[in-house]
Amino acid sequence: MSTVSGHCFCNSIRFEVQGPEKFACFCYCESCQRAAGAPVVAWATYSKSTFRILQGDIHWHRSSPGVTRGHCATCGSSISYESEKRPGEIDLTLNTLEDSSLPKLKAHIWTCDKPAWLAIGDDLPVYQRNIG
Ligand SMILES: [Zn+2]
Ligand SMILES: [Zn+2]
Repeated sequence: MSTVSGHCFCNSIRFEVQGPEKFACFCYCESCQRAAGAPVVAWATYSKSTFRILQGDIHWHRSSPGVTRGHCATCGSSISYESEKRPGEIDLTLNTLEDSSLPKLKAHIWTCDKPAWLAIGDDLPVYQRNIG
């Protein structure tokens, strides 16, 4: 177990979680695109019981049925994703983490929503929607 720290763009929210991550992937779904204002979001999945907010208040947003996303209300950084389909897990945006040894990404998901102008440049498995 190793502690991974993270913070939002404006530093008002600081958090930590215990690694290693269970999974990590690139998500191209439209919800992630809109939440982040970006064509793709890299996520890492951790055990929710190890997630601790050290400073600040995450603003929680029920973004679709059964799904709660967390972001900073001040700077807008997308921080977390939780689904009732995966209780006990929390996904954190890879790029709010401070870990220099970033998790190895394992897949591209929801590529049905991927903008045509964004090319995938690696050999990771590609899923049109979710895995499984
Ligand atoms: Zn912030
Ligand atoms: Zn997504």
